[in-house]
Amino acid sequence: MKEAFWHLGWFFKKTYKRYIFVAFFLLVLSIIPVLPAKLLGLAIDEISTGILTFSHLLLFIGALLLVAIARYLINWVYHYEISRLGHQLSFELRENYIRHLFELDSETYERYTKGDLISRATNDLQNLTVLATNFLQTVFFNTGVVLSAVFMMMIINSLLTLASVIMMPFAIFWLNKKRLKKRAYYKIHREIYADMTENVLESIEGVKTVRAYANEEQDFIKTKKAIDRDIDSWWKIIKFESIYGPLFELVYTVSYFIAISLGSYMVITSNITAGELITFLMYVGMLYGPLVALSNVLNQVNNIAISDQRYHEVVSIVPKIVNTEYSKPILGFNKIEFKNVVFKYPKENQEVLMDVSFSIEKGKTIGIVGPTGSGKSTMIRQLLREYNVLGGEILIDGIDIKEFNTDDVHDLIGYVPQDHILFRRSVDDNILIGNPRASARDVHRAVALADFNKDLKELPYGLETMVAEYGGSLSGGQRQRLSIARALVRDPEILILDDSLSAVDALTEANIIKNLKEARQGKTNIIIAHRFSAVTMADEILVVENGRITNRGIHEELLKYDNWYKMQYLKQINEANEDGVGE
Ligand code: ADP
Repeated sequence: MKEAFWHLGWFFKKTYKRYIFVAFFLLVLSIIPVLPAKLLGLAIDEISTGILTFSHLLLFIGALLLVAIARYLINWVYHYEISRLGHQLSFELRENYIRHLFELDSETYERYTKGDLISRATNDLQNLTVLATNFLQTVFFNTGVVLSAVFMMMIINSLLTLASVIMMPFAIFWLNKKRLKKRAYYKIHREIYADMTENVLESIEGVKTVRAYANEEQDFIKTKKAIDRDIDSWWKIIKFESIYGPLFELVYTVSYFIAISLGSYMVITSNITAGELITFLMYVGMLYGPLVALSNVLNQVNNIAISDQRYHEVVSIVPKIVNTEYSKPILGFNKIEFKNVVFKYPKENQEVLMDVSFSIEKGKTIGIVGPTGSGKSTMIRQLLREYNVLGGEILIDGIDIKEFNTDDVHDLIGYVPQDHILFRRSVDDNILIGNPRASARDVHRAVALADFNKDLKELPYGLETMVAEYGGSLSGGQRQRLSIARALVRDPEILILDDSLSAVDALTEANIIKNLKEARQGKTNIIIAHRFSAVTMADEILVVENGRITNRGIHEELLKYDNWYKMQYLKQINEANEDGVGE
């Protein structure tokens, strides 16, 4: 718990003046409740001794009213300020978290599921806000009420006070000890909750696929199981709380009983007045709520400590690929060289790339082909600096790619991935993600090059048409062409098409290739393709098989020998002759 406060130190440091302000108001709020009881006791004593006058009565009523008004006003100011602090903290925590997510490298995203990352940004983050607001309020306010009530009780009679409250601290101590044992279980529950979030998220995201395969029932059962697991784990916590929670009530009732019996005896023996006894009993009554709240705080402590651990686990991950003050800037290049590159994905045992060497000269077009899963995409994605290579090096004009500023390297590249990530925004906003500063002319040029013009005519509002989540409202080919336009709008030095023409028909593919050839003179293109027609004009074609480059050369050279390339090419020609390729 100390750690959680420590982690929020930056926030307390910059808002401490506001915290002092709210702490003062809280202190006043915790003292005020003792006043009405005191006034009532005085009034009763005056009534029982027959000295209450009309003006005195008015004074009592006026004082009670004043207390009520003061309480309301102070409460109002206090709640306004503490809510503002809470909102500011949750906003800043969320901002830090999301900013950090953008800095993390791919390895982290393989370690955590989306559901887990979301539950840390919602549930756990919320608990941290509770720590800086409700938690502090509960502790300070209730401690204040308990201390002022006990202080006032001691003034009335210390023996009666001692006899009435002695059992309470022991009961709370014992209860909390029991609860501490449950702490580990809260952590398990949090993991079960994250798993459920992931399941629900997957079901929502995959609803179309699930429906297409008439798999709703099975998917529902899977999601329901995750929800049931969550409910079960809550039940365990609730059962525990139900057994131990009411125990305190029992102890409290006994204390109240002692206060009434001993107090009445003291009234009879004239140690205290009847008014004092009533005031005293009201103070005992005031203790229950705050003591229960304070003992429940331990529950929150568990929750908050775990949330703090989960939130900070993510925000303290240091990405492996970071820019330093020594990172070199880069605006252009003449040659990129892969030298004996070896690579494996962090969680896998098997290398995906083995001894890969080739070079890309500025202005050239490189085609990359090979069986599915042979490592083409992995190979070319090394330019995006998602991971560090295991062996060998990638050089840009003779300097290791690691030495350059990663953002600059990204700026050189327009990458069209296999999965087209489209956002629920208009078509032109989706394109502008490639270059937010692009002019309308740039957008139209990119659209024309990607052969997306014909699609615009079909879309109801052209460039302003809203795209559904994940591009659900567009055809596979349209999604590909839109992604290509997004990459082209920045007119990148290097364009990478990662199997980005698979869903377009042969004619559209030919149009796009022709457009690129004409418009991208002097710029570099890397085209990974299944259909060889997309790479036949390349300056060099690399054939990748099982993580190695097994052949290289221009199309005509590769056809001279019996190899995978020739075999595949002939097969594709036959297939095209038989039925043509359509969208
Ligand atoms: P290609 O582009 O030739 O189809 P990929 O480069 O996508 O092949 O994949 C090469 C191999 O690496 C495949 O066996 C694939 O399963 C594996 N792979 C791809 N991405 C990941 C990843 N993020 N984590 C682990 N393995 C991966």
